[in-house]
Amino acid sequence: MNDNNIVWHSHKVTKQDREKIKHQKACVLWFTGLSGSGKSTIANEVENELFKRGYHTYLLDGDNIRHGLNNDLGFDNKSRVENIRRISEVAKLFLDSGTITLSAFISPFIDDRQKARDIIGSDFVEVFIDTPFEECAKRDPKGLYKKALSGEIKNFTGLDSPYEEPINPDIYINTVKLDIKNATTKIIVYLEEEGYLCKNDKG
Ligand code: ADP
Repeated sequence: MNDNNIVWHSHKVTKQDREKIKHQKACVLWFTGLSGSGKSTIANEVENELFKRGYHTYLLDGDNIRHGLNNDLGFDNKSRVENIRRISEVAKLFLDSGTITLSAFISPFIDDRQKARDIIGSDFVEVFIDTPFEECAKRDPKGLYKKALSGEIKNFTGLDSPYEEPINPDIYINTVKLDIKNATTKIIVYLEEEGYLCKNDKG
């Protein structure tokens, strides 16, 4: 569908310029895990902590994106693939704006996460929120497990739709062992150690 007459424009202000003025290096923290595993909760806390320290962030949240940009997509495999492709392209734009971008989507397939990594590039940081199905079903923050287990929802990840665990995530979080605060700290420490946070004060 590419039009050969579309030409890429180079702009005067570069990604590096935008990062420099924000005292940060941009990345995409790509949270993956089952529904109810804690992706949104932890991503929210990480964003809040970064915001308090004066960093520029944006959180792309699965449910919110499905209300707008992706409201034409369902939960069959083809739609899930397109869902992730569009999100990856949006995340890439945020990355280019010099923003520390957090994305919280189930993103259940290894292949699609690889495609996201291919689109986004070397500053793609995969964060695996590892919470067992039984624990997610017990928490059931949105009441979805109850509905899925009674057959009211089809194609539910972990039940009748697969979840392929990351083999070698950049950040691994087991929420049975780490509470929300410690999970947040682990991610912030990663960002500090990898040179994404360039202000002098540690907040
Ligand atoms: P997701 O975004 O993955 O669908 P949510 O963040 O919406 O999941 O829900 C996770 C639920 O689990 C929240 O109600 C949260 O308070 C709870 N929870 C309990 N312990 C933890 C933990 N250690 N980390 C993250 N969430 C936790």
